[in-house]
Amino acid sequence: MKTFFRLVGVALGLALIASCRSGAPAAPTDIPPSATNAPAPTRPPSFTPTSPPPAEAADIIFYNGVMITLETGQRTAQAIAIRGGLIQAVGSDEEVLALQGPDTTLINLQGRTMMPGFIDGHTHILAFPERMGRTFDQAQETALRYGFTTLNEMWADETFLEELFQAEQAGTLRLRVNVFASYNDGILDGNHQKVFLKAWFPGHDPILDPTARVRIPGIKVFLDGDNFTPIRGCWALSDPFPPGARPTSTGLCGTSRGDLYWQQDELNQVVLEAQTAGFRVAFHAMGDRAIEVALNSIEFALNGRPNDEVRHQIEHGSMIRPDLLPRYEQLNVPGSVRGYGDFCNLQEMAPVFGPERVNWYANRYALPGLNIHAYIETDFGWTADPDDRYAQRGLDPIMQLYGIATHNFEGPGGTVCGPDPVVAGFVIPIERALQMLTIDPAYAVSMEDYLGTLAPGKYADLIILSANPLAIEPTSLKHLQVWMTMVGGQVEYCAAGKEAYCP
Ligand SMILES: [Zn+2]
Repeated sequence: MKTFFRLVGVALGLALIASCRSGAPAAPTDIPPSATNAPAPTRPPSFTPTSPPPAEAADIIFYNGVMITLETGQRTAQAIAIRGGLIQAVGSDEEVLALQGPDTTLINLQGRTMMPGFIDGHTHILAFPERMGRTFDQAQETALRYGFTTLNEMWADETFLEELFQAEQAGTLRLRVNVFASYNDGILDGNHQKVFLKAWFPGHDPILDPTARVRIPGIKVFLDGDNFTPIRGCWALSDPFPPGARPTSTGLCGTSRGDLYWQQDELNQVVLEAQTAGFRVAFHAMGDRAIEVALNSIEFALNGRPNDEVRHQIEHGSMIRPDLLPRYEQLNVPGSVRGYGDFCNLQEMAPVFGPERVNWYANRYALPGLNIHAYIETDFGWTADPDDRYAQRGLDPIMQLYGIATHNFEGPGGTVCGPDPVVAGFVIPIERALQMLTIDPAYAVSMEDYLGTLAPGKYADLIILSANPLAIEPTSLKHLQVWMTMVGGQVEYCAAGKEAYCP
Protein backbone atom coordinates (compact mmCIF):
# COMPACT_ATOMS: atom_id res chain seq x y z
CA MET A 1 0.00 0.00 0.00
CA LYS A 2 2.82 2.33 0.93
CA THR A 3 4.34 1.90 -2.52
CA PHE A 4 1.04 2.63 -4.17
CA PHE A 5 0.48 5.93 -2.37
CA ARG A 6 4.02 7.01 -3.11
CA LEU A 7 3.36 6.14 -6.72
CA VAL A 8 0.20 8.25 -6.81
CA GLY A 9 1.99 11.18 -5.22
CA VAL A 10 4.94 11.15 -7.56
CA ALA A 11 2.78 10.46 -10.58
CA LEU A 12 0.65 13.44 -9.68
CA GLY A 13 3.78 15.55 -9.41
CA LEU A 14 5.02 14.32 -12.75
CA ALA A 15 1.67 15.01 -14.35
CA LEU A 16 1.76 18.57 -13.07
CA ILE A 17 5.29 19.14 -14.33
CA ALA A 18 4.39 17.56 -17.64
CA SER A 19 1.32 19.69 -18.17
CA CYS A 20 3.25 22.86 -17.34
CA ARG A 21 5.86 21.88 -19.88
CA SER A 22 3.51 21.22 -22.74
CA GLY A 23 1.19 24.16 -22.34
CA ALA A 24 -1.35 22.20 -24.36
CA PRO A 25 -4.66 23.95 -24.86
CA ALA A 26 -7.68 22.52 -23.14
CA ALA A 27 -9.25 19.79 -25.21
CA PRO A 28 -12.72 20.18 -26.62
CA THR A 29 -15.38 18.40 -24.67
CA ASP A 30 -17.68 18.04 -27.62
CA ILE A 31 -16.27 16.38 -30.71
CA PRO A 32 -17.79 17.38 -34.02
CA PRO A 33 -18.34 14.20 -36.03
CA SER A 34 -16.82 15.87 -39.08
CA ALA A 35 -13.47 15.99 -37.30
CA THR A 36 -13.11 12.24 -37.55
CA ASN A 37 -13.42 9.63 -40.21
CA ALA A 38 -15.26 7.36 -37.81
CA PRO A 39 -18.62 5.86 -38.70
CA ALA A 40 -21.76 7.85 -38.03
CA PRO A 41 -21.83 9.12 -34.47
CA THR A 42 -23.48 6.83 -32.01
CA ARG A 43 -26.26 7.98 -29.75
CA PRO A 44 -25.14 10.00 -26.76
CA PRO A 45 -24.26 7.90 -23.77
CA SER A 46 -27.21 7.08 -21.59
CA PHE A 47 -26.09 8.70 -18.43
CA THR A 48 -26.99 11.62 -16.27
CA PRO A 49 -24.02 13.61 -15.06
CA THR A 50 -23.64 13.11 -11.37
CA SER A 51 -24.83 16.03 -9.34
CA PRO A 52 -23.03 17.03 -7.23
CA PRO A 53 -19.82 15.87 -8.95
CA PRO A 54 -17.93 12.95 -7.43
CA ALA A 55 -15.42 13.71 -4.71
CA GLU A 56 -12.59 12.57 -6.95
CA ALA A 57 -13.59 13.62 -10.43
CA ALA A 58 -11.62 12.29 -13.38
CA ASP A 59 -9.22 14.53 -15.29
CA ILE A 60 -10.01 12.78 -18.55
CA ILE A 61 -12.64 10.24 -19.58
CA PHE A 62 -12.52 8.32 -22.85
CA TYR A 63 -15.91 6.74 -23.53
CA ASN A 64 -17.89 5.01 -26.27
CA GLY A 65 -14.84 3.00 -27.24
CA VAL A 66 -13.48 -0.51 -27.19
CA MET A 67 -11.00 -0.93 -24.35
CA ILE A 68 -8.74 -3.94 -24.75
CA THR A 69 -7.85 -4.31 -21.10
CA LEU A 70 -5.64 -7.43 -21.44
CA GLU A 71 -6.80 -8.19 -17.90
CA THR A 72 -7.94 -11.70 -17.19
CA GLY A 73 -11.60 -11.65 -16.24
CA GLN A 74 -12.52 -8.32 -17.82
CA ARG A 75 -11.22 -8.48 -21.35
CA THR A 76 -12.99 -5.48 -22.79
CA ALA A 77 -14.73 -2.36 -21.55
CA GLN A 78 -16.23 0.79 -23.03
CA ALA A 79 -14.64 3.59 -21.09
CA ILE A 80 -11.68 4.63 -19.01
CA ALA A 81 -11.14 7.44 -16.50
CA ILE A 82 -7.77 9.03 -15.80
CA ARG A 83 -6.80 11.00 -12.72
CA GLY A 84 -3.37 12.23 -11.72
CA GLY A 85 -1.68 10.37 -14.56
CA LEU A 86 -3.11 7.06 -13.42
CA ILE A 87 -6.00 4.93 -14.57
CA GLN A 88 -8.85 5.70 -12.20
CA ALA A 89 -11.52 3.36 -13.54
CA VAL A 90 -12.24 1.02 -16.42
CA GLY A 91 -15.76 -0.11 -17.18
CA SER A 92 -19.00 0.64 -18.95
CA ASP A 93 -19.78 4.15 -20.16
CA GLU A 94 -22.29 4.48 -17.37
CA GLU A 95 -19.90 3.42 -14.63
CA VAL A 96 -17.02 5.56 -15.82
CA LEU A 97 -18.97 8.67 -16.77
CA ALA A 98 -20.18 8.80 -13.19
CA LEU A 99 -16.68 10.11 -12.43
CA GLN A 100 -17.24 13.17 -14.58
CA GLY A 101 -16.78 16.51 -12.81
CA PRO A 102 -17.01 20.10 -14.03
CA ASP A 103 -13.39 20.09 -15.21
CA THR A 104 -13.29 16.62 -16.71
CA THR A 105 -12.23 16.41 -20.35
CA LEU A 106 -14.53 14.05 -22.22
CA ILE A 107 -13.38 12.25 -25.36
CA ASN A 108 -15.87 10.31 -27.44
CA LEU A 109 -13.89 7.48 -29.01
CA GLN A 110 -16.71 6.78 -31.48
CA GLY A 111 -16.07 3.07 -31.36
CA ARG A 112 -12.30 3.27 -31.71
CA THR A 113 -10.01 0.99 -29.78
CA MET A 114 -7.86 1.88 -26.81
CA MET A 115 -5.28 -0.38 -25.22
CA PRO A 116 -2.19 -0.23 -23.06
CA GLY A 117 0.78 1.50 -24.70
CA PHE A 118 3.24 -0.80 -26.43
CA ILE A 119 6.36 -1.85 -24.56
CA ASP A 120 9.41 -2.80 -26.56
CA GLY A 121 11.02 -5.68 -24.72
CA HIS A 122 14.34 -5.31 -26.54
CA THR A 123 15.37 -2.23 -28.44
CA HIS A 124 18.32 0.06 -29.12
CA ILE A 125 16.43 2.98 -30.60
CA LEU A 126 17.58 5.51 -28.00
CA ALA A 127 21.12 4.16 -27.69
CA PHE A 128 21.81 4.26 -31.43
CA PRO A 129 19.41 6.79 -32.99
CA GLU A 130 22.08 7.81 -35.49
CA ARG A 131 21.65 4.45 -37.19
CA MET A 132 18.23 5.72 -38.23
CA GLY A 133 19.66 9.09 -39.14
CA ARG A 134 17.99 10.60 -36.08
CA THR A 135 18.82 12.46 -32.93
CA PHE A 136 17.93 11.19 -29.47
CA ASP A 137 14.84 13.42 -29.38
CA GLN A 138 13.76 12.40 -32.88
CA ALA A 139 14.12 8.75 -31.90
CA GLN A 140 11.80 9.36 -28.95
CA GLU A 141 9.30 10.97 -31.31
CA THR A 142 9.48 7.96 -33.65
CA ALA A 143 8.91 5.53 -30.79
CA LEU A 144 5.93 7.54 -29.52
CA ARG A 145 4.46 7.75 -33.01
CA TYR A 146 4.62 3.97 -33.21
CA GLY A 147 2.73 3.73 -29.92
CA PHE A 148 5.58 2.82 -27.61
CA THR A 149 5.26 4.17 -24.09
CA THR A 150 8.08 2.12 -22.53
CA LEU A 151 11.37 0.97 -24.04
CA ASN A 152 13.59 -1.73 -22.62
CA GLU A 153 17.02 -0.65 -23.87
CA MET A 154 19.29 -3.67 -24.15
CA TRP A 155 22.69 -2.05 -24.42
CA ALA A 156 24.17 0.81 -22.44
CA ASP A 157 27.57 2.23 -21.70
CA GLU A 158 28.18 5.04 -19.22
CA THR A 159 27.79 7.78 -21.82
CA PHE A 160 24.33 6.57 -22.79
CA LEU A 161 23.29 6.20 -19.14
CA GLU A 162 24.38 9.77 -18.51
CA GLU A 163 22.39 10.98 -21.51
CA LEU A 164 19.28 9.25 -20.16
CA PHE A 165 19.68 10.61 -16.65
CA GLN A 166 20.15 14.12 -18.03
CA ALA A 167 17.02 13.83 -20.16
CA GLU A 168 15.09 12.52 -17.17
CA GLN A 169 16.25 15.40 -15.02
CA ALA A 170 15.55 18.00 -17.69
CA GLY A 171 12.03 16.63 -18.13
CA THR A 172 12.70 15.86 -21.80
CA LEU A 173 12.40 12.10 -21.50
CA ARG A 174 8.95 11.53 -22.91
CA LEU A 175 8.55 7.83 -22.26
CA ARG A 176 9.72 5.22 -19.74
CA VAL A 177 13.05 3.53 -20.24
CA ASN A 178 14.37 0.38 -18.60
CA VAL A 179 18.06 -0.04 -19.21
CA PHE A 180 20.10 -3.22 -19.12
CA ALA A 181 23.59 -1.85 -18.57
CA SER A 182 26.22 -3.72 -20.54
CA TYR A 183 28.46 -5.88 -18.42
CA ASN A 184 30.40 -6.95 -21.47
CA ASP A 185 30.00 -5.55 -24.96
CA GLY A 186 28.55 -7.38 -27.94
CA ILE A 187 31.94 -7.56 -29.62
CA LEU A 188 35.26 -9.36 -29.29
CA ASP A 189 38.71 -7.80 -29.31
CA GLY A 190 41.52 -8.57 -31.77
CA ASN A 191 42.41 -11.70 -29.79
CA HIS A 192 38.82 -12.95 -29.83
CA GLN A 193 38.41 -12.09 -26.16
CA LYS A 194 35.33 -10.43 -24.71
CA VAL A 195 35.35 -6.72 -23.97
CA PHE A 196 34.16 -5.66 -20.52
CA LEU A 197 32.15 -2.47 -20.12
CA LYS A 198 30.79 -2.91 -16.57
CA ALA A 199 28.77 0.21 -17.27
CA TRP A 200 26.72 0.24 -14.06
CA PHE A 201 27.43 -2.99 -12.27
CA PRO A 202 29.44 -3.49 -10.13
CA GLY A 203 29.52 -0.12 -8.43
CA HIS A 204 25.84 0.74 -8.29
CA ASP A 205 22.59 -0.74 -7.11
CA PRO A 206 19.78 -1.46 -9.55
CA ILE A 207 17.15 1.24 -10.04
CA LEU A 208 13.82 -0.50 -9.50
CA ASP A 209 11.69 2.46 -8.35
CA PRO A 210 8.50 2.20 -10.46
CA THR A 211 8.09 5.99 -10.41
CA ALA A 212 11.48 6.64 -12.05
CA ARG A 213 11.45 7.24 -15.79
CA VAL A 214 14.90 5.71 -16.12
CA ARG A 215 15.20 2.37 -14.36
CA ILE A 216 18.11 -0.05 -14.39
CA PRO A 217 16.58 -3.40 -13.47
CA GLY A 218 19.37 -5.52 -14.85
CA ILE A 219 22.59 -6.00 -16.70
CA LYS A 220 23.21 -7.28 -20.21
CA VAL A 221 25.66 -10.08 -20.81
CA PHE A 222 26.62 -11.02 -24.38
CA LEU A 223 27.25 -14.74 -24.79
CA ASP A 224 27.82 -15.19 -28.52
CA GLY A 225 28.05 -13.47 -31.89
CA ASP A 226 25.58 -12.59 -34.61
CA ASN A 227 26.83 -14.28 -37.83
CA PHE A 228 27.10 -10.94 -39.60
CA THR A 229 30.23 -9.17 -38.44
CA PRO A 230 33.74 -10.48 -37.69
CA ILE A 231 34.00 -8.22 -34.64
CA ARG A 232 31.00 -9.97 -33.10
CA GLY A 233 31.71 -13.48 -34.31
CA CYS A 234 29.14 -16.22 -34.85
CA TRP A 235 26.32 -17.91 -33.00
CA ALA A 236 27.68 -20.47 -30.54
CA LEU A 237 26.43 -23.89 -31.68
CA SER A 238 26.65 -27.30 -30.01
CA ASP A 239 27.78 -28.95 -33.23
CA PRO A 240 29.98 -27.35 -35.88
CA PHE A 241 28.65 -25.31 -38.72
CA PRO A 242 28.54 -27.43 -41.90
CA PRO A 243 31.81 -27.40 -43.86
CA GLY A 244 31.90 -24.31 -46.03
CA ALA A 245 28.98 -22.67 -44.26
CA ARG A 246 28.82 -19.01 -45.07
CA PRO A 247 29.59 -17.60 -41.58
CA THR A 248 32.71 -19.76 -41.24
CA SER A 249 33.92 -19.53 -44.83
CA THR A 250 33.85 -15.75 -44.69
CA GLY A 251 36.02 -15.79 -41.60
CA LEU A 252 33.41 -14.43 -39.23
CA CYS A 253 33.68 -17.30 -36.77
CA GLY A 254 36.49 -17.87 -34.31
CA THR A 255 35.84 -21.62 -34.27
CA SER A 256 33.77 -24.10 -36.28
CA ARG A 257 31.23 -24.03 -33.42
CA GLY A 258 31.00 -20.27 -33.46
CA ASP A 259 32.02 -17.85 -30.74
CA LEU A 260 31.10 -18.44 -27.14
CA TYR A 261 32.29 -15.41 -25.20
CA TRP A 262 32.23 -17.08 -21.77
CA GLN A 263 33.28 -20.22 -19.98
CA GLN A 264 30.42 -21.67 -17.97
CA ASP A 265 32.08 -21.34 -14.56
CA GLU A 266 33.11 -17.74 -15.12
CA LEU A 267 29.60 -16.82 -16.27
CA ASN A 268 27.99 -18.61 -13.33
CA GLN A 269 29.93 -16.45 -10.88
CA VAL A 270 29.01 -13.19 -12.62
CA VAL A 271 25.33 -14.09 -12.76
CA LEU A 272 25.33 -15.06 -9.09
CA GLU A 273 27.15 -11.86 -8.15
CA ALA A 274 24.68 -9.72 -10.14
CA GLN A 275 21.71 -11.56 -8.70
CA THR A 276 23.03 -11.14 -5.15
CA ALA A 277 23.29 -7.39 -5.81
CA GLY A 278 19.64 -7.29 -6.94
CA PHE A 279 20.13 -7.32 -10.72
CA ARG A 280 18.54 -9.62 -13.22
CA VAL A 281 20.66 -10.67 -16.18
CA ALA A 282 19.52 -10.42 -19.78
CA PHE A 283 21.62 -12.75 -21.91
CA HIS A 284 22.29 -12.17 -25.59
CA ALA A 285 22.13 -15.81 -26.75
CA MET A 286 21.51 -16.74 -30.38
CA GLY A 287 22.99 -20.19 -30.96
CA ASP A 288 21.81 -23.28 -29.08
CA ARG A 289 25.09 -23.62 -27.16
CA ALA A 290 24.84 -20.02 -25.93
CA ILE A 291 21.21 -20.57 -24.92
CA GLU A 292 22.16 -23.71 -23.02
CA VAL A 293 24.99 -21.91 -21.23
CA ALA A 294 22.56 -19.12 -20.29
CA LEU A 295 20.03 -21.59 -18.91
CA ASN A 296 22.78 -23.38 -16.98
CA SER A 297 23.98 -20.18 -15.36
CA ILE A 298 20.42 -19.17 -14.49
CA GLU A 299 19.87 -22.54 -12.86
CA PHE A 300 23.17 -22.23 -10.99
CA ALA A 301 22.47 -18.72 -9.69
CA LEU A 302 18.86 -19.42 -8.73
CA ASN A 303 19.86 -22.62 -6.94
CA GLY A 304 16.20 -23.51 -6.47
CA ARG A 305 14.94 -19.99 -5.92
CA PRO A 306 12.02 -19.14 -8.25
CA ASN A 307 12.96 -16.97 -11.21
CA ASP A 308 9.70 -15.10 -10.60
CA GLU A 309 11.65 -13.28 -7.86
CA VAL A 310 14.68 -12.48 -10.02
CA ARG A 311 13.64 -12.64 -13.70
CA HIS A 312 16.81 -13.51 -15.55
CA GLN A 313 15.87 -13.52 -19.21
CA ILE A 314 17.21 -14.66 -22.57
CA GLU A 315 17.33 -12.37 -25.61
CA HIS A 316 16.86 -13.58 -29.20
CA GLY A 317 16.81 -17.36 -28.69
CA SER A 318 17.45 -17.60 -32.41
CA MET A 319 18.22 -21.31 -32.57
CA ILE A 320 16.65 -23.15 -29.65
CA ARG A 321 17.55 -26.83 -29.58
CA PRO A 322 14.31 -28.78 -28.98
CA ASP A 323 15.47 -30.20 -25.62
CA LEU A 324 16.07 -26.65 -24.33
CA LEU A 325 12.44 -25.57 -24.71
CA PRO A 326 11.24 -27.42 -21.59
CA ARG A 327 14.03 -25.79 -19.60
CA TYR A 328 12.65 -22.33 -20.35
CA GLU A 329 9.43 -23.49 -18.74
CA GLN A 330 11.01 -25.39 -15.84
CA LEU A 331 13.11 -22.37 -14.88
CA ASN A 332 10.37 -19.88 -15.86
CA VAL A 333 12.72 -17.82 -18.02
CA PRO A 334 11.26 -14.89 -19.97
CA GLY A 335 12.51 -14.67 -23.53
CA SER A 336 12.43 -12.27 -26.43
CA VAL A 337 10.99 -13.21 -29.82
CA ARG A 338 11.46 -11.38 -33.11
CA GLY A 339 7.92 -10.87 -34.34
CA TYR A 340 8.51 -9.51 -37.81
CA GLY A 341 11.16 -11.01 -40.01
CA ASP A 342 11.77 -13.14 -43.05
CA PHE A 343 10.73 -16.66 -42.07
CA CYS A 344 9.39 -17.46 -45.52
CA ASN A 345 11.74 -20.28 -46.45
CA LEU A 346 13.83 -21.91 -43.76
CA GLN A 347 15.61 -24.07 -46.32
CA GLU A 348 17.40 -20.99 -47.57
CA MET A 349 19.31 -21.14 -44.28
CA ALA A 350 20.16 -24.85 -44.64
CA PRO A 351 23.65 -24.19 -46.09
CA VAL A 352 24.48 -22.22 -42.95
CA PHE A 353 23.10 -24.60 -40.32
CA GLY A 354 22.47 -27.91 -42.02
CA PRO A 355 19.20 -29.50 -43.11
CA GLU A 356 18.01 -30.72 -39.68
CA ARG A 357 19.15 -27.87 -37.50
CA VAL A 358 17.67 -25.23 -39.77
CA ASN A 359 14.22 -26.10 -38.42
CA TRP A 360 15.29 -25.09 -34.91
CA TYR A 361 15.28 -21.59 -36.31
CA ALA A 362 11.49 -21.67 -35.91
CA ASN A 363 11.54 -22.81 -32.28
CA ARG A 364 11.45 -19.23 -31.01
CA TYR A 365 7.79 -19.30 -31.98
CA ALA A 366 7.21 -22.09 -29.48
CA LEU A 367 8.08 -19.68 -26.65
CA PRO A 368 4.74 -17.78 -26.66
CA GLY A 369 2.94 -21.09 -26.25
CA LEU A 370 4.96 -22.06 -23.18
CA ASN A 371 3.93 -21.00 -19.73
CA ILE A 372 6.52 -18.22 -19.67
CA HIS A 373 6.62 -14.48 -20.34
CA ALA A 374 7.68 -14.21 -23.97
CA TYR A 375 7.97 -10.69 -25.33
CA ILE A 376 8.53 -9.03 -28.69
CA GLU A 377 11.91 -7.59 -29.60
CA THR A 378 12.49 -5.01 -32.30
CA ASP A 379 16.25 -4.94 -31.72
CA PHE A 380 17.90 -3.24 -34.72
CA GLY A 381 14.88 -3.73 -36.94
CA TRP A 382 15.34 -0.49 -38.82
CA THR A 383 15.99 0.56 -42.33
CA ALA A 384 17.59 3.82 -43.33
CA ASP A 385 14.10 5.18 -43.77
CA PRO A 386 12.07 4.39 -40.66
CA ASP A 387 9.05 6.07 -42.23
CA ASP A 388 8.77 3.43 -44.91
CA ARG A 389 5.97 1.28 -43.58
CA TYR A 390 6.50 -1.67 -45.87
CA ALA A 391 10.25 -1.90 -46.15
CA GLN A 392 11.27 -4.28 -43.39
CA ARG A 393 9.70 -1.99 -40.86
CA GLY A 394 10.81 -4.01 -37.89
CA LEU A 395 10.74 -1.18 -35.39
CA ASP A 396 7.00 -0.72 -35.75
CA PRO A 397 4.98 -2.72 -33.20
CA ILE A 398 2.10 -2.90 -35.67
CA MET A 399 4.31 -4.80 -38.11
CA GLN A 400 5.65 -6.92 -35.26
CA LEU A 401 2.06 -7.77 -34.38
CA TYR A 402 1.26 -8.58 -38.01
CA GLY A 403 4.43 -10.62 -38.35
CA ILE A 404 4.00 -12.76 -35.27
CA ALA A 405 0.30 -13.41 -35.90
CA THR A 406 0.79 -14.32 -39.58
CA HIS A 407 4.53 -15.14 -39.92
CA ASN A 408 4.22 -13.22 -43.18
CA PHE A 409 6.87 -10.85 -44.31
CA GLU A 410 6.36 -7.84 -46.50
CA GLY A 411 9.33 -6.91 -48.58
CA PRO A 412 10.13 -3.79 -50.53
CA GLY A 413 7.40 -2.84 -52.94
CA GLY A 414 4.73 -4.54 -50.86
CA THR A 415 5.48 -8.11 -51.93
CA VAL A 416 4.30 -10.54 -49.27
CA CYS A 417 5.77 -13.96 -48.68
CA GLY A 418 3.97 -16.52 -46.61
CA PRO A 419 5.61 -18.58 -43.88
CA ASP A 420 7.70 -21.69 -44.22
CA PRO A 421 5.55 -24.74 -43.29
CA VAL A 422 7.58 -25.32 -40.12
CA VAL A 423 7.04 -21.73 -39.00
CA ALA A 424 3.37 -21.85 -40.00
CA GLY A 425 2.90 -24.63 -37.46
CA PHE A 426 3.26 -22.11 -34.66
CA VAL A 427 -0.04 -20.26 -34.53
CA ILE A 428 0.08 -17.30 -32.19
CA PRO A 429 -3.33 -15.80 -31.39
CA ILE A 430 -3.59 -12.02 -31.68
CA GLU A 431 -4.43 -11.61 -28.00
CA ARG A 432 -1.26 -13.51 -27.07
CA ALA A 433 0.69 -11.31 -29.46
CA LEU A 434 -0.74 -8.19 -27.81
CA GLN A 435 0.41 -9.47 -24.42
CA MET A 436 3.90 -9.87 -25.88
CA LEU A 437 3.90 -6.14 -26.62
CA THR A 438 2.48 -5.06 -23.25
CA ILE A 439 2.23 -7.11 -20.07
CA ASP A 440 5.01 -9.60 -20.81
CA PRO A 441 7.76 -7.03 -21.39
CA ALA A 442 6.38 -5.17 -18.34
CA TYR A 443 6.86 -8.37 -16.34
CA ALA A 444 10.40 -8.75 -17.64
CA VAL A 445 11.32 -5.48 -15.88
CA SER A 446 9.05 -6.02 -12.84
CA MET A 447 6.57 -3.33 -13.87
CA GLU A 448 3.53 -5.57 -14.31
CA ASP A 449 1.76 -3.91 -11.35
CA TYR A 450 2.11 -0.49 -12.98
CA LEU A 451 1.97 -1.07 -16.74
CA GLY A 452 0.82 -3.46 -19.43
CA THR A 453 -2.92 -3.79 -18.82
CA LEU A 454 -5.81 -1.40 -18.29
CA ALA A 455 -6.55 -1.58 -14.59
CA PRO A 456 -7.21 1.05 -11.90
CA GLY A 457 -4.02 2.27 -10.24
CA LYS A 458 -1.79 1.59 -13.23
CA TYR A 459 -0.15 4.38 -15.20
CA ALA A 460 -2.31 5.96 -17.89
CA ASP A 461 0.07 4.81 -20.64
CA LEU A 462 -2.41 4.35 -23.45
CA ILE A 463 -2.81 4.28 -27.19
CA ILE A 464 -5.76 4.71 -29.53
CA LEU A 465 -5.84 2.42 -32.56
CA SER A 466 -7.77 2.97 -35.79
CA ALA A 467 -9.45 -0.45 -35.42
CA ASN A 468 -9.77 -3.33 -33.00
CA PRO A 469 -6.96 -5.84 -33.58
CA LEU A 470 -9.04 -8.59 -31.97
CA ALA A 471 -11.84 -8.08 -34.49
CA ILE A 472 -9.90 -8.15 -37.77
CA GLU A 473 -8.14 -10.80 -39.81
CA PRO A 474 -4.48 -11.27 -38.84
CA THR A 475 -3.41 -10.28 -42.37
CA SER A 476 -5.17 -6.93 -41.89
CA LEU A 477 -3.24 -6.09 -38.73
CA LYS A 478 -0.62 -4.26 -40.79
CA HIS A 479 -3.20 -1.62 -41.70
CA LEU A 480 -3.74 -0.55 -38.09
CA GLN A 481 -2.70 2.97 -37.25
CA VAL A 482 -1.81 4.56 -33.95
CA TRP A 483 -3.83 7.73 -33.51
CA MET A 484 -2.72 8.78 -30.06
CA THR A 485 -0.01 7.88 -27.59
CA MET A 486 -0.33 8.93 -23.95
CA VAL A 487 2.30 8.50 -21.24
CA GLY A 488 1.25 9.03 -17.64
CA GLY A 489 -1.95 10.79 -18.71
CA GLN A 490 -0.07 13.19 -20.99
CA VAL A 491 -0.60 13.10 -24.76
CA GLU A 492 2.83 12.64 -26.33
CA TYR A 493 1.73 11.90 -29.89
CA CYS A 494 -1.41 12.76 -31.81
CA ALA A 495 -1.78 11.70 -35.44
CA ALA A 496 -2.52 14.43 -37.95
CA GLY A 497 -6.25 14.86 -38.38
CA LYS A 498 -7.07 12.90 -35.21
CA GLU A 499 -6.87 15.82 -32.79
CA ALA A 500 -10.45 15.19 -31.70
CA TYR A 501 -9.27 12.02 -30.00
CA CYS A 502 -6.39 13.70 -28.16
CA PRO A 503 -7.21 15.44 -24.88
ZN1 LIG B 1 19.84 -6.18 -29.26
